[in-house]
Amino acid sequence: MADAREHYNFLKVIMIQIQNFINGQFQSATDPVTLDNYNPATGEAYSTLPDSDAVDVVFAIQAAKKAFTKWSALPATERSMWLNKIADGIENRFDEFAKAESIDTGKPLWLSKELDIPRAIQNFRFFASRILHYQSQYTDSGSVNNDVINYVERSPLGVAALITPWNLPLYLLTWKIAPCLATGNTAVCKPSEVTPMTAYLLAQVLEEIKFPPGVCNFVFGTGAKLGDTLTSHPGVAAVSFTGGTETGRKISESASSKFKKISLEMGGKNAAIVFEDANLKKAVSSLVRSAFLNQGEICLCNERYFIQESIYKEFLEMFVEATSKLKVGDPFDKDTFMGPLVSKAHLEKVTNAVERMKQDKAKVIFGGNSEPLSDELKTGYYFQPTIIEDLSDCSELQQEEIFGPVASFRPFKGIAEAIKWTNTTPYGLSTSIWTQDLTKAHKVASKIDVGTVWVNTWMKRDLRMPFGGMKDSGVGREGGDYSFDFFTETKTICIQL
Ligand code: NDP
Repeated sequence: MADAREHYNFLKVIMIQIQNFINGQFQSATDPVTLDNYNPATGEAYSTLPDSDAVDVVFAIQAAKKAFTKWSALPATERSMWLNKIADGIENRFDEFAKAESIDTGKPLWLSKELDIPRAIQNFRFFASRILHYQSQYTDSGSVNNDVINYVERSPLGVAALITPWNLPLYLLTWKIAPCLATGNTAVCKPSEVTPMTAYLLAQVLEEIKFPPGVCNFVFGTGAKLGDTLTSHPGVAAVSFTGGTETGRKISESASSKFKKISLEMGGKNAAIVFEDANLKKAVSSLVRSAFLNQGEICLCNERYFIQESIYKEFLEMFVEATSKLKVGDPFDKDTFMGPLVSKAHLEKVTNAVERMKQDKAKVIFGGNSEPLSDELKTGYYFQPTIIEDLSDCSELQQEEIFGPVASFRPFKGIAEAIKWTNTTPYGLSTSIWTQDLTKAHKVASKIDVGTVWVNTWMKRDLRMPFGGMKDSGVGREGGDYSFDFFTETKTICIQL
């Protein structure tokens, strides 16, 4: 705790000024007015960032366009080498990246160290390796005489706009940057205005390693002010977006009419289904994390818990008991499981959602309020882990993503009901099924409209597997070859021999 306080005091003194990174150089935005960046643990502004506009975006697109010719012509081995150098650069400043991510988002430091920063490094290393093993498709199906061959050539698209949210800032941004650059594209990155710090550190790494200028540019500011230029500019060939469904809809409208390639990873209202034959101890331990890890601010967090009625009471008691042991507090305290929510606006959104649920006759059985903390932290954006029992038929609110530490519970009778309720939402991102009967798990999994189903586990992510959502949760898939498909254009070449 003392260490954390010193850190926060230090931040007040230095007030870091984030700058755009365009064509290999740090620079202010054309509009000199800056935005404040807040530390959610204390509610105090500790850095500023540019409030970039269309002019800055166009500079970045032009730089990326110019850099494309050389970068795309580099052999894959050289691009791979550069990606590994970026990974080394993050690794060399690992603690600094982890602290920055925790201060910016409010997530516990141990989580930044275990999840966010290692995954960012792994993203670069994975795609650095993957690009070296890429194989093309070939057929000799032209005729009986076998005198025609077909093969597929892949080429990069050009400049890609990479737009990311605030919950896993570096993790999600690098998940896009790495395949984008590996396949020979250049990038204009637009991190969330709420959590820009680790993207800024990443730009510093690029400067340190003398990364080719213009290949990866960072423009900071709000989506409302610069988003439309970025997603509709003729110099941008593709838009890869992760964020909320409504923003995704706007981006889709802006980019699709210009026939850009788009990938949208959006919101979720994920469910966990626990059958009576599940290993309850394991299920509780994993599902409590699935509700409250990262303050419930992961698109894959479960917000709805459907528990078979014969074990409902027992399961709920175990879940409440486990939740009551979670410590909410300073992200720098090693015992903290949940830090503050990311921003004041988000705290208000979560608080209002819970209040509306109460009016909707849902019963709060644990939490439900802001977390009262010590004097130094009382201005932070803390919210208690919250458990709600909602016995009503899925209300409208039960279908809207809260994106906070709020888990709602409901007993189900049989498989059909569990499947129906799980699918009764506009979203389709992920589901976690708990049962020892794998035949049942398989049957249920195949009837659920989501991009990822976990059986007896949650949030195990293999980078080679496709990732994305159905319905309002997404368009397209990312991961391994799926990312490569997105960031490349395919050309079929048919040769008469
Ligand atoms: P938002 O949709 O508000 O913002 C995401 C990014 O889009 C931000 O960088 C934002 O900028 C930018 N943006 C906003 N408007 C525009 C626009 N018109 N044009 C271009 N860019 C724009 O999401 P949040 O940051 O609030 O993140 C939370 C959401 O992200 C949740 O719904 C969550 O489910 C989803 N998410 C989905 C994941 C998935 O893989 N499916 C993973 C993680 C999160 P600004 O800085 O102004 O906010």
